[in-house]
Amino acid sequence: MTPRYAQRMAQVQPSAIGELLALGADPSITSFGGGYPDATLFPAGALDAVFHEIITAPGGAAMQYAPSNGLARLRDQVAGLMQADGLAACTGDDVLILQGSQQGLDFVARMLVDPGDVIVTEDPTFLGALIAFAPSQPDYAVVPVDADGMQTDQLETLLAAQPRAKMIYTIPDFQNPTGVTLSLERRKALIALANRYDLIVVEDTPYRHIRFAGLNLPTLKSLDTEGRVIHLGSFSKILVPGLRIGWAVANPDLLARMGQLKVAADTQTSTLNMAAASLFLDRYDLTAHIATLRAAYATKKEAMLDAIRRHFPQEIHATDPAGGLFTWLTFPQGFDTTEFMRNVALPMAKVAYVPGATFFPLTPRANHARLNFSAPSLAAIETGIAALGRALKTHL
Ligand code: PMP
Repeated sequence: MTPRYAQRMAQVQPSAIGELLALGADPSITSFGGGYPDATLFPAGALDAVFHEIITAPGGAAMQYAPSNGLARLRDQVAGLMQADGLAACTGDDVLILQGSQQGLDFVARMLVDPGDVIVTEDPTFLGALIAFAPSQPDYAVVPVDADGMQTDQLETLLAAQPRAKMIYTIPDFQNPTGVTLSLERRKALIALANRYDLIVVEDTPYRHIRFAGLNLPTLKSLDTEGRVIHLGSFSKILVPGLRIGWAVANPDLLARMGQLKVAADTQTSTLNMAAASLFLDRYDLTAHIATLRAAYATKKEAMLDAIRRHFPQEIHATDPAGGLFTWLTFPQGFDTTEFMRNVALPMAKVAYVPGATFFPLTPRANHARLNFSAPSLAAIETGIAALGRALKTHL
């Protein structure tokens, strides 16, 4: 049998680094590769209690089908989170519950992008977004980032030359993979450009609440004057990723269209998981839990950057993120982090990271790597960075 795949499958290909990342799963390897939260901080006792309560409640509502756009109570609670985050007018009607924010990435592309339409992204950007967009067969136009996020002056030049641009995809807070945050001035510039060129903005914010210090910058959604920002949020990094609960907040037309794709994709997000998340929010203090996560990840970030300063050759640069889960390394030109991982980091230093090349939509750059500091223990951060540093000093 020879499957005659649809054309869209041409871009749906296994990741070039899948095989390398699989090697990183070996228990003898210290992994700075995944984007996992610290499992020791999962509120397991609280989740045990809420799952027990919803399953034993008379009537079995939590085990029943539910509305496709999500449980009304949970939509109201998410609207409450958005209100507390500067979106005063947000109500449950403005919220669509998703199977993780990843599902939102799939929907926005399916809703907006025809083959050959252009998606504008940061360069580099989140690999999972490129994977979600691929079946929609987009072309890409990319904007470099610096310490203040997407360089909006370059975005302006790019949009003037890109009549097929349909949407801008951005991770404004503690970006994956670089850890950088879009400045207030650039947030305003981005919205002004989206207005001028009549584009949809997809604002992806899974790390937004994991801020180590300072005050939140306004969401793009809160600066949106024309209903063109689709805001994606997620409980994955602030509660647990296994619940697979995220959300979209967008204007009614866009939200209704995404809701139709939700029916097509999976009818609804798991009632049990929505009910558990909702009861968790009723019974427990999410803000206090987030404060614990922020403190723990801030400590780990400091430990990783401190270890990098002590153990790495001077010429390697690491970003110092103000939040999130990652730091982004820049090696000297000509250094190939994929080769180094295959030949040295994995077999000799017993350390995994994500080679940076995979995060560039158009032109891979080999001299970068993404390191995660949330999942490994403080001890593993020290020993892993020391081992990587020794290997780099021998091979650079
Ligand atoms: N967007 C970004 C930038 C991410 O890093 C991730 C996952 N790490 C997601 C979206 C998807 O998250 P989830 O589906 O778990 O909400």
